Amino acid sequence: MSYRRFDVSVLRIEQLSAAFRRLTLVSPDLAEVAWAGVDQRVKLVLPAPPEAGDPVDGDWFEWWRALPDELRPPMRTYTLAAHRPEAGEVDIDFAVHGDSGPLSSFALRADVGDRIFLVAPGTDAPPEAGVAWRPGTASNLLCIGDETALPAIRNILRGLSADQSCDVLVEVPDPSDRLPLVTSARLRLDWVVRPAGTPVGSRAEEFLFGAAASPDSPGEPDPELWLEATGSGAERYAWVAGEVAWVNRLRKRLAPAGYGRGNAAFMGYWRAGHPARG
Ligand SMILES: Cc1cc2nc3c(=O)[nH]c(=O)nc-3n(C[C@H](O)[C@H](O)[C@H](O)COP(=O)(O)OP(=O)(O)OC[C@H]3O[C@@H](n4cnc5c(N)ncnc54)[C@H](O)[C@@H]3O)c2cc1C
Repeated sequence: MSYRRFDVSVLRIEQLSAAFRRLTLVSPDLAEVAWAGVDQRVKLVLPAPPEAGDPVDGDWFEWWRALPDELRPPMRTYTLAAHRPEAGEVDIDFAVHGDSGPLSSFALRADVGDRIFLVAPGTDAPPEAGVAWRPGTASNLLCIGDETALPAIRNILRGLSADQSCDVLVEVPDPSDRLPLVTSARLRLDWVVRPAGTPVGSRAEEFLFGAAASPDSPGEPDPELWLEATGSGAERYAWVAGEVAWVNRLRKRLAPAGYGRGNAAFMGYWRAGHPARG
């Protein structure tokens, strides 16, 4: 089975900025995580209450899915920010949003030694497991994201080479969240800081297009959005991730510029007003 559940505990906690809190998770088994870098996604699962029992014979996902709602522990998706196999450690960088979600709350209140489960590709997984970044041979790259996409953008940039160029736009809630980014590529980097109370993404849209598009009709939840590039051999490639309604608007607004199914990935990382489905 390529995805495995790792029983890990919190080793270190570091407040990187106003929003970002890094938890370093540890277990000797973490040497068996397949680390692909870029935007590789993993799941974090909070411990189940004792009444839920334990998965028998390893198929934790079937066990988790079959639990009644009141016993099923929250599961959320995060980016593997770093992996140090020799130390049995991974880092997860949480863009903390208070106590409004169970995983944000966990990150905010975690103590060293707290236990959680990490679901990640094992070393028998295919190299592309959990990776949406697929630029093919494109050398003109575009990355746009909000704070939840910053850990992925940071790892994507780190892997680029000097013969690539990348335009990056990141919207964050606080000036201190403009974390250092390192790359060998020719980089044009723009940060947009979102004033408190401003809808997510609107400042980035103003930056890109001069004005934010009108929000979708209130009361109608946005559908989940997960479009990976199908591959086109195009010279340009775009990767866009963040709040789903915003990413959907960007998808429509970037189409006239030549970004579509072949050469662009548009991914809803979270939904304003709705808990993630896990
Ligand atoms: C592939 C992928 C990679 C991701 N990587 C990261 C990562 O590295 N770091 C990271 O912080 N997040 C990341 N996310 C986003 C994260 O999974 C969501 O923000 C998730 O909803 C957080 O779970 P929660 O339990 O805190 O809140 P939920 O229970 O899911 O939501 C509760 C409430 O909080 C709101 N909410 C959720 N997230 C935010 C937010 N960021 N800001 C403001 N309000 C919010 C929801 O709209 C809802 O109203 C990633 C998501 C995906 C799909």
